[in-house]
Amino acid sequence: MPIVHTEIAEHVDRRVSNEAIATLYRQWIEAASDEGLPDFALFDPAARPDEADDLMVIEPDGRSLLYAYYGRRIANATGFDMTGRRTSDFDGETAALAERKYRSVLETRRPLYLISSASRSSAVVSWERLIMPVRAADGRTLIVCYSVPLVHKAEILDSLMESSTDGIAVLQPVRDPDGRIADFRYLMINKRAGEILNRDTSSLIGAPVSIVFPEANSRLPVYREVMATGIPRQIELDSAVDGEPRSFRLSAVRAGQNVVVTLTDITEMRRMMEQLERQQTDLQFANDTLQDQAANLVSLVETIEQARADALSAERFVTDLMEAVPVPLFYWNPDGTLNRVNRHYAAVYGHTTASIIGKTPEDILPPHVAKYLREHNARLIESGGHQTYEGDVDVPGRGLRRFVVHRALVRDLEDRPIGIAGAMLDLTEEYGLRRELERLASTDPMTGLYNRRVFMERLEAQAAHHQRYGTPASLAILDVDHFKSVNDTYGHDFGDAVLVGLARLLSAQVRQGVDVVARFGGEEFVLLLPETDGPAAATMADRLRAAFAALAFDHASGPKTFSASVGVAEIGRADDVTSLLKRADDALYRSKHAGRNRVTLAGAPPDRRMSSAG
Ligand code: GH3
Ligand code: MG
Ligand code: MG
Repeated sequence: MPIVHTEIAEHVDRRVSNEAIATLYRQWIEAASDEGLPDFALFDPAARPDEADDLMVIEPDGRSLLYAYYGRRIANATGFDMTGRRTSDFDGETAALAERKYRSVLETRRPLYLISSASRSSAVVSWERLIMPVRAADGRTLIVCYSVPLVHKAEILDSLMESSTDGIAVLQPVRDPDGRIADFRYLMINKRAGEILNRDTSSLIGAPVSIVFPEANSRLPVYREVMATGIPRQIELDSAVDGEPRSFRLSAVRAGQNVVVTLTDITEMRRMMEQLERQQTDLQFANDTLQDQAANLVSLVETIEQARADALSAERFVTDLMEAVPVPLFYWNPDGTLNRVNRHYAAVYGHTTASIIGKTPEDILPPHVAKYLREHNARLIESGGHQTYEGDVDVPGRGLRRFVVHRALVRDLEDRPIGIAGAMLDLTEEYGLRRELERLASTDPMTGLYNRRVFMERLEAQAAHHQRYGTPASLAILDVDHFKSVNDTYGHDFGDAVLVGLARLLSAQVRQGVDVVARFGGEEFVLLLPETDGPAAATMADRLRAAFAALAFDHASGPKTFSASVGVAEIGRADDVTSLLKRADDALYRSKHAGRNRVTLAGAPPDRRMSSAG
């Protein structure tokens, strides 16, 4: 071990912090004179009881130096009492350094302050000393050395051990005669270890572990193993301190020939560990819960995906269905924009499906129709139900078409109106057919005039009107003269042509939209003349008769003319249709009898006759 040392030769009193050394140094300086050294008597330990334990006196003795006096405290600290010994009795660097410095002081005759540190001594870490040359009474030069330990290992150890929050014990092996470790005894033990082990520390020093703590026998093999291998070991043990159960970690470490055991209270740490473990369990549980939730979410997402797929296929189904139906279909949003349509609907308004979506009624319809549609939409949304109306649309490329539109309010699952759906039925063809059927049912195919059925309806209506308002109206029956012989002479086709010519003449000559002309059957025609009394009707009938008589029909044998006879009757208040027809027919009969080609007015209607009679 190298020895570290520092020395100060001048102004020692100003440069050291040890007050005793500074005082001794000043006293030496004061006592010394130019001629010589201070007297030994001044520094004789016997004369200085306060410092005696820290002083030593060294005398040159032949070639060696003799420790004439060795302070008790120094001996305690070094573990040796040097009194009466010589420096030559020792070797080693510490002794050599000391001897060298003592001899140097004897030579220079000046005090020397020295700090030396060495690990050679078992107990002393550093010494601080003042080496002073003095003159003995017999004139020899002696050395008085004041020597104090700067730092004391034992003190450090004690304070370390006592201040430690860990329990510390030093165990010394107890060997059997064969040199095997039989037991351990307590060499040192700190206060904390005493507390942990529930023993008075002073009673433990020197005591064998196996006797003091029979329960600790199981630990002896551990200590033995540590001694044998030098590898530290740790075990855990439980002990009650002040009646409170606590846990400790015991560490055994080999230190030289001993085992140092430290006992660390790990109760709190263990508690924290347990808490951490519990938290970890909680976390694990939370994690499991989260994973369950994640799994639920996944299945929820799958359900949503399935629902979305279902919705998409439902949407696809609706689209396909709408396109498959050969009828214009539409669906309006409540705000009046088109939500969806099929291509047939779009085509009605000259659009494509894509170009018509989002359009408003005003975008695709004439203003008055758009206004009508808006009103009806509002009414449907307000009151629900179903609407039907007819309308004509000029469809691009197909002309004016007649549609019957069916519309209904659509509601969601909460019954809120969400739109108006409907279909447009194209009934153009059906309407034409119906009109044609009506025409066929009401007209005479050959002449195009109304038939008997229609005429009778009109006559009934006119009779009723007369009954209610008393407005005049007249009936004329016209029959072609000797028509049988026309057929016989010119053929049936020629007879038909005459009837058609007569029909045209009658239609052309009567008041359009007022008078009603019909073919009553065979070569017999009837006229209903509203707002016309008997005489006026007779005048008109005669004009028709004359026109017919003047009408020439071309025939291979030259132009031919024909005549007709007419019977006229004015509706009377007492008349019904039958009696009126009868009176007109009677008048016709009279025209025939009177020579044909003439008009006969039936007698005044019954009420007029009555009123004139009355
Ligand atoms: P009268 O002056 O007394 O009326 O003599 P008439 O020959 O006209 O007498 P009548 O009323 O008995 O004869 C009607 C004839 O009219 C009988 C029938 O052959 C003929 N006739 C009836 N309907 C048609 C028809 O649609 N076409 C043609 N060509 N002849 C018809
Ligand atoms: Mg006839
Ligand atoms: Mg006739």
